[in-house]
Amino acid sequence: MGLCPLHEDHKPSFLVDSSKSLFYCYGCGRGGDVIRFAELYHQVKFPQALALLQQWRGLAPLLHEAASFYRMQLHRHGEAVAYLRQRGVRSPELIEHMRIGYAPGGCLRGWLTRLGHPLPALRQAGLVTSAGYDAYLHRIVFPLEANLYGRSISTSAPPHRFLPGAKGGLYSWEQAQSYPEVIVVEGLFDYAVLWEAGFRNVTCSLGTHLNALQFQQLCDAPRTVYLAFDSDGNHSGQNAAQWMSRRLRTRGVAALRVALPDGQDPNSFFVEGGDAHQFQRLLEAARP
Ligand SMILES: [Zn+2]
Repeated sequence: MGLCPLHEDHKPSFLVDSSKSLFYCYGCGRGGDVIRFAELYHQVKFPQALALLQQWRGLAPLLHEAASFYRMQLHRHGEAVAYLRQRGVRSPELIEHMRIGYAPGGCLRGWLTRLGHPLPALRQAGLVTSAGYDAYLHRIVFPLEANLYGRSISTSAPPHRFLPGAKGGLYSWEQAQSYPEVIVVEGLFDYAVLWEAGFRNVTCSLGTHLNALQFQQLCDAPRTVYLAFDSDGNHSGQNAAQWMSRRLRTRGVAALRVALPDGQDPNSFFVEGGDAHQFQRLLEAARP
């Protein structure tokens, strides 16, 4: 019996029966097996919950090797380096810090099977499609805790892709969490330019929707949170920031919304000539 990780619990109401592998919470009334727990905790559907649990059981080394392979490919492909440059990612330190790689497509499967990984494991991890092809093709790859994010460099493919499974917690949270003021951005290229500009108190939610784990991370200590979401034409980034700042404030977290110039995100702000000093002024002008 312990504090429930699924709701705000002040006295233990979460019961685990290890002999039956079941849980039940007397506080929020939810219960079930380990897959149900993963569904609720990470706010994902059944197949993603299953994939997530499989990752916990030993997918990590496979993803690690895939990420290492992609990193080796980066500097062999001029189009990948050119894309990074165009998004404001230039310094070797930044590429090293984020462990950025490139998936040219068509050679990961061969590499991993030669290392002894069976094809079904590659399929299950989502690295290889059911037809046997590399799943990531012409994508810049960023390793996450238990996933790989792939950003397409071609305009003909969907821009964002993750492997099956949850996106996990806030990006590089271990580093950001020690700061009393934290900047949250929605994309990894936003994170990259801020890091490059010297901001170390930055983290990324990988989309405007924060999952339960990410939300909990922001609330785990007294801090000020700056939400620097896209200022896009359809207002989705700004609407998400408004909703999120209200939710954070109900949990006692000081949340402020950073207003970027119309049509910009932190990445384009820096790529189009903005500097750390100008961004600092935007932070100072941020409103609840
Ligand atoms: Zn509960």
